[in-house]
Amino acid sequence: RQLLKLVVLGDSGVGKTALLRQYVQKKFIEAHQATIGADLLTKIVTTNNINVSLQIWDTGKICVCVSGQERYDALGSTYFRGADACVFVYDISSKTSFAHVDQWRQSFIKNTSNDRNVSKFKFLLLGNKSDLQEDLRQVSTSDAAAYAQTNGMLFFETSAKTASNVDEAFLALLHAISTV
Ligand code: GDP
Repeated sequence: RQLLKLVVLGDSGVGKTALLRQYVQKKFIEAHQATIGADLLTKIVTTNNINVSLQIWDTGKICVCVSGQERYDALGSTYFRGADACVFVYDISSKTSFAHVDQWRQSFIKNTSNDRNVSKFKFLLLGNKSDLQEDLRQVSTSDAAAYAQTNGMLFFETSAKTASNVDEAFLALLHAISTV
């Protein structure tokens, strides 16, 4: 069995919890269709504002997603220990949340530098709330795509509300991890 740990980082309110819930719940529903490794078990536990979602795939892989609500400077290295990948989330209607992604990225790298070389981690950037009206958008798709490319991140615009791209994004990340 292989344990995969994904850390989910981003400002409060960008939709980290909603994304995890959408991802886990959707997978649970799709278990009957069994297309790409459906779950045998999914669960979300919340303690001290940290959400942990656990999924056991029928391929035998165990995926643990950890999502915190704290500020980037308040998270300790325990939180990051053993991570295989990091998901950075911003809200497409918040320029500030996008600007902060780089601080989350630096915080992740600082706290995992003892674990392994940064080039070994897989990164996923999610511009969430893509369902919002276009006039509320503060972050262009091309700016975010350029940032993701510069920093070696997979990139998707998602909506935890409509489920748009949620499965696709996590599957792309899990695929990238499993083909290392
Ligand atoms: P977190 O603090 O990053 O975990 O953010 P939450 O998951 O608690 O979401 C913050 C707020 O944004 C909540 O009111 C959610 O309902 C809302 N939200 C989250 N994802 C989306 C989305 O994709 N679209 C829209 N329109 N609202 C969202």
